[in-house]
Amino acid sequence: MGSPQVEVEDDKLKVIFVPFLSTSHIIPIVDIGRLFAMHDVDVTIITTPVAASIFQNSIDRDAARGHSIRTHIIKFPASQVGLPEGVETFNADTPPGMIAKIAQGLSMLEEEMEQLFEDLEADCIVTDMFYPWTADAAAKLGIPRLIFLGGSYLAHSAQHSVKNYMPHKDIGSDTEKFNLPGLPHKLEMTLLQLPDWLRAPTGYTYLMEMIRDSEKKSYGSLFDSFYELEGTYQEHYKKATGTKSWSIGPVSLWVNQDASDKAGRGNGKAEQEDKGQGWLEWLNSKPDNSVLYVSFGSMSKFPSSQLVEIAQALEESGHDFIWVIKKKDEGEEDSFLEEFEKRVAASNKGYLIWGWAPQLLILENKAIGGLVTHCGWNTIIESVNAGFPMATWPLFAEQFFNEKLVTDVLKIGVAVGAKEWRNWNDFGKEVIKKEEIGKAIALLMSNGEGADMRKRVRALSDAAKRAVQVGGSSQANMLELVQELKELRLQRFNRKVTVIP
Ligand code: UDP
Repeated sequence: MGSPQVEVEDDKLKVIFVPFLSTSHIIPIVDIGRLFAMHDVDVTIITTPVAASIFQNSIDRDAARGHSIRTHIIKFPASQVGLPEGVETFNADTPPGMIAKIAQGLSMLEEEMEQLFEDLEADCIVTDMFYPWTADAAAKLGIPRLIFLGGSYLAHSAQHSVKNYMPHKDIGSDTEKFNLPGLPHKLEMTLLQLPDWLRAPTGYTYLMEMIRDSEKKSYGSLFDSFYELEGTYQEHYKKATGTKSWSIGPVSLWVNQDASDKAGRGNGKAEQEDKGQGWLEWLNSKPDNSVLYVSFGSMSKFPSSQLVEIAQALEESGHDFIWVIKKKDEGEEDSFLEEFEKRVAASNKGYLIWGWAPQLLILENKAIGGLVTHCGWNTIIESVNAGFPMATWPLFAEQFFNEKLVTDVLKIGVAVGAKEWRNWNDFGKEVIKKEEIGKAIALLMSNGEGADMRKRVRALSDAAKRAVQVGGSSQANMLELVQELKELRLQRFNRKVTVIP
């Protein structure tokens, strides 16, 4: 006979979060951690000093609001892998020669992190997809691991389709269109638009297989998405992979409720740097829905040949614009852009932000009318939430699949016409000409199709707000998930009590 069952109602559920060390993976998983803490969960985020500096301000603010949340810092072994101190994250400025070393340093932290899961008595761990080893670590401790999958359900469903059906294997050319089999919509791609690791096996293919295996061993997956946006793909994905999954987004809308949260998101320093807020005055001087916001995320730096085409397209479009441009590498010159900046400042047509823009704040300004985006999932979700249509210009990762959701399924965007997937920050030969960029911008900002897209995206924006309110789809998912995790903990606890004589 076992011992009596014990209730542990009073204890808070303890959940550990481990973000991957790139800005756009850190941003949503930290927001998810903060969301858990808002739901009375005790949250610890394990990360390295540089990654922590990106989001620590928001954790401090949440702690001051009474939430049970903190960061646990572990030292990145920079010198052991031959990196200068402070180089430990992946972003647009990461020198290509240092990428493998950062990955090596990260793998050296596995043992320490695994020990922390035990020492901090985690009831559950939520870890980025790029930490497949954490599924086994959780299993050893008998606790659930939730995998955070960045990107849309559609993108993950599409990857599953390509892997299983290999629709590209018998096509005649790189640019011939083929259908992605088994998906809820007819979606066409070309070989060049597929990630290289899906075209033919590479080292990354092997990593993705490990990630998929670890997903199967996990308790379930978390997506920064919401049912009204891509519920069909959420259902499809769960059925196709036989996994559990929860949409709990838009997380950014949910947790970043006041201006200080929005201003510093993704770059702790921005709060100090942007005190001048010239962009805000500039935007406030513009009519509603008149300004294009042009940004390519945290990871990409275009070569000069492409920057010239973008600059000319923007200038010739006749629309006002804010363009976020990554700072040049040291020693690189772009006098063309300096001239351009002076000219558009003088004509008052354009505002350039060098480096990091407070995107959430910009997107809530009424003057914005549409985005030119590389289809990073965070930006798509933020744009939908703000109610803006998009000119889509996918570059790398799962962005070509995300584009399909925007242009073909939801019909809230127009494709610029990118033809070739490339590796992160490897721009290959493709330069998109100003005429093509200009055509997409004209359509986006038009009163015809542009207005229709705007109407559709505004309906989704309203749905996003409802999803995170009491009774909304994401809110219901979040409550269900926390309850399920509490029940799992209780079962675990009772099992322990039962085996102890
Ligand atoms: N972001 C920002 N300011 C910038 C560039 C990016 O706030 O100047 C934020 C943006 O709001 C989004 C994230 O960084 O949350 C970028 O993620 P996304 O998935 O769009 O693209 P990635 O960086 O992965 O290419």
